[in-house]
Amino acid sequence: MNDNLERSKAYFEEAKQYIPGGVNSPVRAFKSVDMNPVFVERGKGSRIYDEDGNEYIDYVCSWGPLILGHSHPAVVELVQQTAAKGTSFGAPTTIETKLARLVTEIVPSVEVVRMVNSGTEATMSALRLARAYTKRNKILKFEGCYHGHSDSLLIKAGSGVATLGLPDSPGVPENTGQHTLTVPYNDLDSVQLAFQKFGHDIAGLIVEPVAGNMGVVPPEPGFLEGLRRLTKDYGALLIFDEVMTGFRVDYHCAQGLYGVEPDLTTMGKVIGGGLPVGAYGGKREIMEWIAPTGPVYQAGTLSGNPLAMAAGHATLSEMGKPGTYQQLEERSALLEEGLTKNAKEAGIPYHINRVGSMVCLFFTGEKVTSYDQAKKADKALFARYFKAMMKQGISIPPSQFEGMFVSTAHTVEDIEKTIEANRQALKQL
Ligand code: PMP
Repeated sequence: MNDNLERSKAYFEEAKQYIPGGVNSPVRAFKSVDMNPVFVERGKGSRIYDEDGNEYIDYVCSWGPLILGHSHPAVVELVQQTAAKGTSFGAPTTIETKLARLVTEIVPSVEVVRMVNSGTEATMSALRLARAYTKRNKILKFEGCYHGHSDSLLIKAGSGVATLGLPDSPGVPENTGQHTLTVPYNDLDSVQLAFQKFGHDIAGLIVEPVAGNMGVVPPEPGFLEGLRRLTKDYGALLIFDEVMTGFRVDYHCAQGLYGVEPDLTTMGKVIGGGLPVGAYGGKREIMEWIAPTGPVYQAGTLSGNPLAMAAGHATLSEMGKPGTYQQLEERSALLEEGLTKNAKEAGIPYHINRVGSMVCLFFTGEKVTSYDQAKKADKALFARYFKAMMKQGISIPPSQFEGMFVSTAHTVEDIEKTIEANRQALKQL
């Protein structure tokens, strides 16, 4: 039992003196689950260890990037080798081309790709490009989808905004918000209506092809195809935000899994293998509107950073080995099966959504296909469940609006332990 969190508590108190809220990203503070955050000391494989020496099987995996688990030897080794030669030059290096080439080979719709430093930067830059390319202003997004914290996209957003129950963020100018239209996820009729009304001024539609920031919500059959058709009909760009789904739900990303090709794709998380990376890419004809070939400005002191490129390249190379995604699918299916059986037996209202290694247990008896439905989940019950899992050494995201991430480091034994912990936790609720 992980009962002793004294050091974490002390470290949090200290951190609060120097860092707003003691954390560098809000959900880490564990506020919505009413607990002190756990300070992590190290991670190896499927496990993390906190500052009090407690061990956890980790399903946060740094919020998605660590698809190979913690400190994977191939990643660590390449990062170390690269670091020994220098950490940053602000000049082109061959590892950037290597990773870009690999990405264009893997991701169906991406002909050229620009590296940035975060998912937020990727989506923000993709919107700028879409607006410049189409000479239009408006963006269409979905309620409960999160695309980072740039002004235009911080409207009816998921992730931490949903977790903390925050309104649309103060500080976003009203006239910026006016250019962002929002409609319910999986609701093609609403998308059609939005296009009928504003189609002449919609530059792009941005969507998480599998929503992962309102919990995990898969696209209904025909939804992504419908978005492709409507954007094409109205001359708007279709942007798949694959920051979370990219190389996660399939080696060829969600677009490969569902067979729908967007005009632009934003990436992050797995592409950086645990170092800070984002990327956006697509058709050459569109992408070459960005500087230096085109007039749309976007730059970055540390963009294409060699260490980050090395971590990303090592990660994607490992993931490209035969059978990797098959095994990840089998382990994730095993987890889903166990959670489903336990929830049924415990007689609690539940709904489980899973796409590949993204798994989410909602505390609601209703099917979850939209943000409105996700919001019906019992968050107080989730908070109690979270604490019971952490106590038993299972680290899951501290929010009902985030999914668990299974990695290739999770063994069948880890999954079985997790299922047993889940059974105990549900019994206690
Ligand atoms: N888009 C999606 C789909 C995301 O899940 C996230 C982060 N969770 C972002 C964008 C923003 O990425 P970052 O936190 O790296 O800025």
